[in-house]
Amino acid sequence: MRIRVLGAHNLETADTRHTCFLVNENLAIDAGSLMTSLSSEEKDSLTAVLLTHRHFDHLRDLPSLGLATQDNGITVGLYGLSETLEALSSHLMDGLLYPNFMQRPTAEHPKYRLNSVASGQVFTVAGLDAKAIAVPHSAHAVGFILRSDRGAIAFTGDTGGGLEPFLLDSFKPSLLFVETTFSSKEEDRARNAGHLTPSLLRGELAAALGRGTSIPRIIAVHMDQRHEGVIRRELGEVSADLGVEIIPATEDMEFQV
Ligand SMILES: [Zn+2]
Ligand SMILES: [Zn+2]
Repeated sequence: MRIRVLGAHNLETADTRHTCFLVNENLAIDAGSLMTSLSSEEKDSLTAVLLTHRHFDHLRDLPSLGLATQDNGITVGLYGLSETLEALSSHLMDGLLYPNFMQRPTAEHPKYRLNSVASGQVFTVAGLDAKAIAVPHSAHAVGFILRSDRGAIAFTGDTGGGLEPFLLDSFKPSLLFVETTFSSKEEDRARNAGHLTPSLLRGELAAALGRGTSIPRIIAVHMDQRHEGVIRRELGEVSADLGVEIIPATEDMEFQV
């Protein structure tokens, strides 16, 4: 699997994009920066998008992507919790502000087809095994683990913790994309919003190590760019103290498993 980090932040600016990933050529994880990071040809190659939760920075580009690719004849499968898909169809693509691409261009061959998945469910998408894992956040949310015959990768999505199920999963991911939205001095804010900081990540990893769990390579995303320098320095300290590899992501970084 090839993984391209389309966005590594929680806000879009001139230099940053919403957290979003492309796996191989045809599968995306979340949809917050598909329009701004993919060429027209790359947009036309998408066949499926896994959605972690309903927050706008993770769904935003689906209406525009629908408009941009509605004539290519490809129905894109959208996979997520029923709560996520319900918010998407009732608020973002309800036919008022944007066309209902679950019915357009035609009801028989719509742009998007909704596929509800539950936590713990294993399913096949874009030729890969996929598993949804519930995570604690301020909206119903899941992360995903993807497995090919070459290995597995995991994405927590937005989460305030709950890393252990990813670390212990039978798919054995060798790469774990984790959010660290805020700096450690904003820990209360992070707890209230269901996000992680380097200090909270340290607690999760130290507890897992204490139980003898091995930690894969960790890629940090969804950073608040206003405090990114501090977050990166703090992640470096966690990495050195625990002996765990932690790489803060940048836009367009690529990985292979
Ligand atoms: Zn969120
Ligand atoms: Zn988010």
